[in-house]
Amino acid sequence: MSQQSGPATSLQDIIAHAKEYGFVFPSSEIYDGLQAVYDYGQNGVELKNNLKTAWWKSMTQLYDNIVGIDASIFMHPTTWKASGHVDGFNDPMIDNKDSKKRYRADQLLEGRAEEYAANGQQDKSAALLAETGRLLSAEDLDGVRELIISENIVCPISKTANWTEVRQFNLMFSTQVGSVADESSTIYLRPETAQGIFVNFLNVQKSGRMKVPFGIAQIGKAFRNEIVARQFIFRMREFEQMEMQFFVRPGTENEWYEYWKETRLKFHKAIGLPAEKLKYHDHDKLAHYAKAAVDIEYQFPFGFREMEGIHSRSDFDLKNHQEYSKKKQQYFDPELDESGKPYGNYIPYVVETSVGADRLFLATLSNAFVQETGEKERTYLKLHPALAPIKAAVLPLVKKDGLAEIAQDITKSLKPYFRTVYDDGAAIGKRYTRQDLIGTPFCIAVDYETKDDNCVTIRHRDTMEQERVPIAALKDKIGEQVAMERILESI
Ligand code: ATP
Repeated sequence: MSQQSGPATSLQDIIAHAKEYGFVFPSSEIYDGLQAVYDYGQNGVELKNNLKTAWWKSMTQLYDNIVGIDASIFMHPTTWKASGHVDGFNDPMIDNKDSKKRYRADQLLEGRAEEYAANGQQDKSAALLAETGRLLSAEDLDGVRELIISENIVCPISKTANWTEVRQFNLMFSTQVGSVADESSTIYLRPETAQGIFVNFLNVQKSGRMKVPFGIAQIGKAFRNEIVARQFIFRMREFEQMEMQFFVRPGTENEWYEYWKETRLKFHKAIGLPAEKLKYHDHDKLAHYAKAAVDIEYQFPFGFREMEGIHSRSDFDLKNHQEYSKKKQQYFDPELDESGKPYGNYIPYVVETSVGADRLFLATLSNAFVQETGEKERTYLKLHPALAPIKAAVLPLVKKDGLAEIAQDITKSLKPYFRTVYDDGAAIGKRYTRQDLIGTPFCIAVDYETKDDNCVTIRHRDTMEQERVPIAALKDKIGEQVAMERILESI
């Protein structure tokens, strides 16, 4: 028997599986879909909610000094001036005049560098990345275009190098608020959830009597008008972020940066992502707010890509909000420094952890997707039991002779504790397959013997091993393994 999962599986397999088994559908599909927008189906929403719960609890339950908020998507437009997004949240784009296709100029060059590296030309690859980084930092867009041309990069559709100039493209979506459409009524759909945290920093600090260091966590939608949105739910125009801003005393940010870098990696391992598919990638090109930044990359079916960012943001955001709002964003630190004086008033520094719920979902789903070949072909989702959409399925061997009633009673008795379904729809083998395909860790078979011994057979998803257990033991035995605690205790 051989197993295949993760990078060997193609993205197309994952997309097809996600659609067929109710995980992810293209948005408004009956109208042929909307590019880079997706809907989560009946199983997808459960998996995504479980991932979000794991993250939320890993922040707000495991730490005394981290609390959550839920800020609005719309914010005062000045927020985005202060954060730097109005002026700086741009991607360089370039169009091919023949195919009319639009590309991210930096990604064209990165793609070429990847090709060099794949051909063993590591130095050439590194030199090209360095030059791209230099030109972008200097905002030399003509230079970027010349580099694309000198590298003989052609449009994959038209196969020509008939490029327009490179232009900066702001990724924020704007809309109008109220009935009068003038410039003052323009507001943005937030491109990140972080700013909702920054503008509430003092509200939370004061109302919660929080002491630095402390964190504020949030899960919510973010919107970016991505130029090139491919790769399924990896890059969407509407997506969900899980962000935590950790406010620290200036001078201690490097320790906290290291702490969160390590802790976040532990989280990914705890939800079942294997160590060899995870790696750090330090940023050479820093975002406008960052002093240091590292990505946690996951080996998606299309290669290692960013799943989470950990950023040391200094006092960039709070300082700018103080300047634009004219409201002090300071914290009074009563603790004493080495000379015995209180640290006093300062604007805290921030270390941020920011992970996309959708990218985490894609990583989890592609890692869990297992195709066994050989004598007994089988496809199943090897999801952590605490993340699986359905925890247990109760299956009577046959519908007659009272077995259905016993199975229904068992289902009812387990439902308050974890998600349990009842299925009597086909041959038992087929019903096992159905549950395998959506990652249900436990199937409970009710057979004729059950009537005599009050026992059922648990069939384990990954090993297909069967185990006879008393009905009365099911709640504890399964409940124990599907509990979110199993994830939280290993972070
Ligand atoms: P990328 O370089 O891939 O565009 P980014 O560096 O702009 O990502 P951040 O601004 O650091 O991303 O956002 C934090 C996290 O939000 C990312 O690590 C990712 O998981 C998620 N994210 C960002 N953009 C998208 C998107 N368009 N679709 C889905 N998730 C996204």
